[in-house]
Amino acid sequence: MSIEYNLATIQKDIEEACHLVGRNPEDITIIGVTKYVTIERTEQLIQTGIQHIGENRTDEMLKKYEALKSSNVKWHFIGTLQSRKVRDIIDFVDVIHSVDRLSVVRQISNRANRTIDCFVQVNVSGEESKHGLLKEETIEFIESLYDYKNIRIIGLMTMAPYTKDESVIRKVFQELRALRDKIRAKNLPYAPCNDLSMGMSNDYKIAIEEGATHIRIGTKLVGESK
Ligand SMILES: *Cc1c(COP(=O)(O)O)cnc(C)c1O
Repeated sequence: MSIEYNLATIQKDIEEACHLVGRNPEDITIIGVTKYVTIERTEQLIQTGIQHIGENRTDEMLKKYEALKSSNVKWHFIGTLQSRKVRDIIDFVDVIHSVDRLSVVRQISNRANRTIDCFVQVNVSGEESKHGLLKEETIEFIESLYDYKNIRIIGLMTMAPYTKDESVIRKVFQELRALRDKIRAKNLPYAPCNDLSMGMSNDYKIAIEEGATHIRIGTKLVGESK
């Protein structure tokens, strides 16, 4: 299928999910995840009008950025970030979705020459294989960031477990939203925490119904082939 076709399908789904719960489709940012595909295919994706690109490895992201920087898209880092790799992307990254450790915060804070929008990644389901903070740790972690420069916590990010059971996925998204609401209510100047980065190819409709503001879509948009 062409990327245009895929995007039209996704946009229709977004409209339907928004309609169901009384949201505005304009409040949903689609991040096109290009980790499976080439620079050429990423370029085709950008030509369809997608303005946000997501990558989960710093080397691959740097390569694509170098090739495509004239296109003016926003660059989202969505993978596990090692603190020593922060410097490879800090000069051009727009949003980091995977902050879950002070060592990473420290690197971002020290190396950035502007404020970087970040999501704190939460492991809502508590699966051992997943990255991110446990729910119980998240508030304290965010409260501990008041002293770091150049960091703005714009929201929380999670990945739902791999399961066909929609109720399990929905519950994870609901829990992330409830946690977001608690943090937002604290009115921390460096952590407005308005946004929710949740929903991938298999579960973005559920995520939107549960309040996602940023959905990260790879397979369903550009396919998997390198
Ligand atoms: C790969 C990836 C995605 C996109 O996954 P698809 O199922 O291909 O849509 C989203 N978020 C993260 C963190 C990823 O690593």
